[in-house]
Amino acid sequence: MAFSKAEPDRMRGQASEGEACPLCGAVPPPGVESCRAMIYSVWEREYSGPEFAAVHLLTVDAYALQHGEYFGPRSNAFHLMRLCWLIELGGTERGGSSRLHRRKFEEAYRSFPNLAPPEDRGALTVAHVCGLEEPGEHARKVKEWASVVWEAWAEHRGWAREQAHRLFVA
Ligand SMILES: [Zn+2]
Repeated sequence: MAFSKAEPDRMRGQASEGEACPLCGAVPPPGVESCRAMIYSVWEREYSGPEFAAVHLLTVDAYALQHGEYFGPRSNAFHLMRLCWLIELGGTERGGSSRLHRRKFEEAYRSFPNLAPPEDRGALTVAHVCGLEEPGEHARKVKEWASVVWEAWAEHRGWAREQAHRLFVA
């Protein structure tokens, strides 16, 4: 008797319970349906109060950069540029909209390239930060995850730095 093993569907992300995410490789813990369910639970916690919310943009950018297929063709460029601002330029949750000139940003966004994701999207995933109940630990592990993603995108970091300086600093 032979069993055939289905090929993972990398583009659609149709992982069933307990299977590794076809995009980032995260394995959901027992009782959690999918990689997406993990990030939703993380975001829910971040919406629950300011201590968890402090690193919310990092989880959005790290998750989006590991799942560009879900977020549209220019999302990689946007999230990489913002991740650069958060990690290297001292950007914060609160400083975002006031320091970013909306008009300049909208113009720039239209010319953002479609950046292809790296072969290796990083060894840490949403699984690294899922279910943490202590805000300090949550923040520390989110920063570790975000740094790993930033490293994984080495090929496009030069572009991201240039844009982040132009849009947030200049
Ligand atoms: Zn995933």
